[in-house]
Amino acid sequence: MRFGFHISISGGLSKVAQRAVDRNCQTIQIFSRNPRGWKYGPLSPDGVRLFQTALRRLDISPVVVHMPYLPNPASPDADLYRRSIDSLTEELRRAQQLGATFVVIHVGKHMGSPIEQALKRVAAAINQTLEQVETEVLLLLEGTAGQGTEIGHSFSQIRDIFAQLENPNRVGVCLDTAHTFEAGYDISTDEGLEKTLEEFGQLLGLDRLHLLHLNDSKTPLGSHVDRHWHIGEGEIGREGFRRIINHPKLRGLSGIMETPAGEAEDAKNMRTVRDLVL
Ligand SMILES: [Zn+2]
Ligand SMILES: [Zn+2]
Repeated sequence: MRFGFHISISGGLSKVAQRAVDRNCQTIQIFSRNPRGWKYGPLSPDGVRLFQTALRRLDISPVVVHMPYLPNPASPDADLYRRSIDSLTEELRRAQQLGATFVVIHVGKHMGSPIEQALKRVAAAINQTLEQVETEVLLLLEGTAGQGTEIGHSFSQIRDIFAQLENPNRVGVCLDTAHTFEAGYDISTDEGLEKTLEEFGQLLGLDRLHLLHLNDSKTPLGSHVDRHWHIGEGEIGREGFRRIINHPKLRGLSGIMETPAGEAEDAKNMRTVRDLVL
């Protein structure tokens, strides 16, 4: 498994490569812009060129772009829905410019509307987006913890979205270990992990799984409360991660950590996952 972190872009794209080196990353995830707003400027061509050159020299891949927080492709609000599709379209273009392999999106929040319709809106949003952007960048749906009105916390909901896609081959899945556990899949035990992967395989097919977010969970199984924690120090635990990282069906994937940030903490989490590799 190739390991990496979500890397901050604060101060600009030019800071990313050094941060990735400092953290011993083989792969990285970034936001392409401030994730907490709607407004942003275009990427600078020079900045993009330097970014790509540095990452190639360092053999850092895949590069993952995570969608900003505000868009909600499941929103029942027509205006927010429209803006979410525009934002997703733009993010896919930016990811392409950056030479990224994946764009990760959270499935969305139903905001009190019927789940079936919310899932339908997500599929329609993806269909519209993919129609507007010709790219090799794969869109990855990230399973959620089911916190608040979040949808996409069960594999069957994700399957329902896939069933309505016009180009399912341009879309994949990102599993976040914390979200999966918090959603009620007990990946902390040997038996639970096998059962979870079997269910994923049956409902979605393991070939749809392209990326892992490696986060331990601060909250218990099925809590529906999304709290990332340091690897091995949460409810999934060290042995849980040892099985996940070395599992024959998972070890060929990349694992991005979104653990609570800090220089010493990042170093420790990277040491932990590397130590767990058999
Ligand atoms: Zn995640
Ligand atoms: Zn999360």
